[in-house]
Amino acid sequence: MITSKEIRQSFKDFFQSKEHRIVPSAPMVIKDDPTLMFTNAGMNQFKDIILGNAPVKYPRVADSQKCLRVSGKHNDLEEVGHDTYHHTMFEMLGNWSFGDYFKKEAIAWAWEYLTEVLELPKDRLYVTVFEGAAEESLERDNEAAAYWEEYLSKERIINGNKHDNFWEMGDTGPCGPCSEIHIDIRPEDERVKTDGLLLVNQSHPQVIEIWNLVFMQYNRKADGSLEPLPAKVIDTGMGFERLCMAVQGKLSNYDTDLFQPIIRKIGEISNALYGEDPAKDVAMRVVADHLRTIAFSITDGQLPSNAKAGYVIRRILRRAVRYGYTFLGMHESFMYRLIPTLIEVMGDAYPELAAQQILIEKVMKEEEESFLRTLETGIRLLEKNLPEQEGGVLSGEVAFQLYDTFGFPLDLTELILREHGMTVDVGGFNTEMEKQKQRARNAAAVETGDWTKVRDGEPEFTGYDETETETRILRYRAVKQKNREFFQIVLSRSPFYAEMGGQVGDTGWLIPEEGEKTDIFDTKRENNLAVHFTRRLPANIEGTFTARIDTEKRTATECNHTATHLMHEALREVLGMHVEQKGSYVSPELLRFDFSHFGKMTPEEIREVERRVTAKIRSNYPIEEHRHVPIEEAKAQGAMALFGEKYGDDVRTVRFGSSIELCGGTHISSTGRIGTFRIITESAISAGVRRIEAVTAKVCEDYLYAKEDALVEIKNLLHNVPDVMQGIRRLLADNEEMEKEIREYVKEKTEQLKQRIIDKKQDIQGITLFKLIMPIGSVDVVKDIAYQLKGQFPEKMMFVAGTSADGKPSLTVMLSDDLVAGGLHAGNMVREAARQIQGGGGGQPHFATAGGKNADGLIAAVESIVQKLNDY
Ligand code: ATP
Ligand code: MG
Repeated sequence: MITSKEIRQSFKDFFQSKEHRIVPSAPMVIKDDPTLMFTNAGMNQFKDIILGNAPVKYPRVADSQKCLRVSGKHNDLEEVGHDTYHHTMFEMLGNWSFGDYFKKEAIAWAWEYLTEVLELPKDRLYVTVFEGAAEESLERDNEAAAYWEEYLSKERIINGNKHDNFWEMGDTGPCGPCSEIHIDIRPEDERVKTDGLLLVNQSHPQVIEIWNLVFMQYNRKADGSLEPLPAKVIDTGMGFERLCMAVQGKLSNYDTDLFQPIIRKIGEISNALYGEDPAKDVAMRVVADHLRTIAFSITDGQLPSNAKAGYVIRRILRRAVRYGYTFLGMHESFMYRLIPTLIEVMGDAYPELAAQQILIEKVMKEEEESFLRTLETGIRLLEKNLPEQEGGVLSGEVAFQLYDTFGFPLDLTELILREHGMTVDVGGFNTEMEKQKQRARNAAAVETGDWTKVRDGEPEFTGYDETETETRILRYRAVKQKNREFFQIVLSRSPFYAEMGGQVGDTGWLIPEEGEKTDIFDTKRENNLAVHFTRRLPANIEGTFTARIDTEKRTATECNHTATHLMHEALREVLGMHVEQKGSYVSPELLRFDFSHFGKMTPEEIREVERRVTAKIRSNYPIEEHRHVPIEEAKAQGAMALFGEKYGDDVRTVRFGSSIELCGGTHISSTGRIGTFRIITESAISAGVRRIEAVTAKVCEDYLYAKEDALVEIKNLLHNVPDVMQGIRRLLADNEEMEKEIREYVKEKTEQLKQRIIDKKQDIQGITLFKLIMPIGSVDVVKDIAYQLKGQFPEKMMFVAGTSADGKPSLTVMLSDDLVAGGLHAGNMVREAARQIQGGGGGQPHFATAGGKNADGLIAAVESIVQKLNDY
């Protein structure tokens, strides 16, 4: 049997033989595109080339791309596990032409690869072509159909509508017709019974689409109209797992050598056999699939978390844990134990898995355990609340709350309820879900206008060398977000750094030759294009400007960026080489750095890192920057490259002393200019990942001054003792001494008070009555006296006190046990009497207290209690 590794390689070899450049997969997690969280198709990494924002380096490219379809436009999550051919994460094989070959070659090569290289039977293949759309004045794609007719008979070429056969990048931008290749993998006997032609696009699990060839030939404008695309693009995508299934003669993706070892391992751990119980099979497929997604997103730098992309990943993990819990009886973490098997299957093609094995396992285990705890709390909560639900129907709101806060999918809630003969108001649940989606849409809704072109030209970044640059406007457009309007401007030359790699974008001004200057409040990168944000367009769009950045902010940011590099190196020196960057944020105020490490840093380690960074600052290393280094050479020099980053063939390296990193950001000219450095916080952000925040330069100076000021203030409070520490120690010792004295004093006073009460005792019908009416700050003193009296006078005794502190009255009653046995009840007595002080209280039969608001009623309240004795 030809293995999946061989199939992946054969695809690359084939397109290499057709003069394609084979490129690596881009990371699955996307960091610099506001419209997309995860790579969902092979074309994502070429979006800037297709949009014309980046030059075409290789007109023909092919690769295998890690894709994830769990959010936004492509969301297959709910299918995964239930069917046999959709995954959350999958590999997409693809070939591209940027303004080079078009439909003829794309079709010929796809056919050649499938039928000649892989020898898939021709009579099992079908293709679709775009049927045309009258409302767009688009004709049938007869061009593609004619090429297909060279290989297949006409009846195997099926017309498809706009939904299936017209591809669009987004609301605007490149688009065009597409042709899909479908394959019928059913066993012979079934094929005889039903013609495969009838099953294409009918969601039959064994008559499925494997390859989509997109022919981009139009550009969709904001008003909805189409114009021809100047450089036509071929963009193809083939599901690797589906291809393996077809080539290996299997009926399910999960029966291929990509999944079987994992499925077997799941069976081993959970004591289940794949193929025996349909419910267990679904669960095993879910776990096998989601395992890959979580492992790859961790290696690509997206850890599970409670926001955005991290939350999507967390929810996928929870889905797998939940299937394992419910259907495989896995009540303990287990997925992390599958990682070694995953590495056996995919480790060769994706070395990042083995390189980050420990991190993946730790993060997974911790996430699994924390969700299992939530799951059990949630289940208990739900079960406890069941009887209170009316009519056996759980409200949609509650079900949604369980979903939203406990991560309970609707089907889990339904399952638990079914066991109790109850149901969920699904309509209500969906309404809540829709409401939440609408809220999210409103918050995210952005309306972008078409670009208005002012002049031709390629934007150029001058900000590594200049802080102000002579420039002109190339294009601009209006953007509306949450009812606020602003403009985006593209400049011919610009010193403004556009936010990337954690470094925030520059702010500054566009200064015309005459007239008012325009504020630039942010600079961001959109598909590799630097866009400058402003609330107001300059008066003379056509004119010449000086683009000037706010150098104070830029310098502060640069100090933090360079310090980040120095700290990265120092962390590896102090903690070990397992330290790897997991995230970074650099602004004028601070630097934030996330890195892999498995325990809290000790104060000594933090101090040691600070010392080393400061030593590197004092060494005053000048920046050594190389803008076009071949990536292999940079790595050979020891430059730290991150998994999960997208690098071109040429990279920029930044060196300060022995620290060398691949980096596109801006830096201070020499480390000495950073001046000062301090770590201000060190914390955990998830299992195995720590976060440090640190400050440099003026911000650090202010931070240190604030600490000094606090010390001076303490000294002042201590009346300028020469030695502050000794002053504080003495204060604490004095305090302790005084507390001791107070305790003794109180004891003495209590004794005196008790004696006075005893002296004034009364006799009422043979019962000894002790009465106390006076202001007393401490109720504990009264309680203390009450118990002492009871000890001293165990028979026929009643103590009643009406005391007050700060105008707040309280009542206390203590009775000897024989009186309680005779029917008196202290709790009832105070409760009743408390009305006269506008309060309430109660307690045991022998001892009770009450508090109130009206101190004027205190005497009356005490008398009403004494009266009870008279009635006794
Ligand atoms: P389908 O209709 O089967 O969901 P699609 O139209 O969404 O497929 P495309 O967007 O054209 O697929 O993606 C190109 C190829 O990627 C498909 O032909 C298919 O082989 C594969 N593919 C798409 N989605 C998935 C998935 N969720 N899991 C595995 N492979 C997929
Ligand atoms: Mg799909």
